[in-house]
Amino acid sequence: MLRDPISDMHSEAWWMRALDGELSGAEERAWQAHLAQCLSCRQEWAALTHMEALLRTAPPPPVLPADFTARTVTAITQKQRLRSLLRFLVGFMLLALTIWMGLGYCNIALGELIQTVGMVVSSRQILFAALMRTLVGLALTVKTFLPLIVGIAAALFLLLAPNSVLATVAMVRFAQKRQARSATA
Ligand SMILES: [Zn+2]
Repeated sequence: MLRDPISDMHSEAWWMRALDGELSGAEERAWQAHLAQCLSCRQEWAALTHMEALLRTAPPPPVLPADFTARTVTAITQKQRLRSLLRFLVGFMLLALTIWMGLGYCNIALGELIQTVGMVVSSRQILFAALMRTLVGLALTVKTFLPLIVGIAAALFLLLAPNSVLATVAMVRFAQKRQARSATA
């Protein structure tokens, strides 16, 4: 005997219809009669209807606070405002930079400033060249001012050496004596 899934009480289709309350009056009576004499169906039906009842009486999902939507909208608006502000600032800076550079090309002073900036950027080469120039200049200067440098060095040595105080005192005494002698003469 072939079993029709719709009318077969052990089919999934029947159970679905029974759980959804779609059985006709005659079908419902036949179903109750079947449950009364079929232990396995009775137990499974009891478990399923119990679970259905549990699901139906389960607490609803938490209700969102009343001002949730308003707050969300405010937050999004603020974010958008911040973004537009940032966009404005970036645009302003770009514009200022463009104007500054344009002025720099027109204005000599600003042009020189830009040149200086460029020199600072390549300061390594500049520094090296300056160092070389200084060294060459120093070599030439040392030749010319060698006696002066030696004299200053000697004076510094006399003044800063450990017994420089004595030397200074002696020099001062000598000078005073000479002054006194020239005064009496
Ligand atoms: Zn059964």
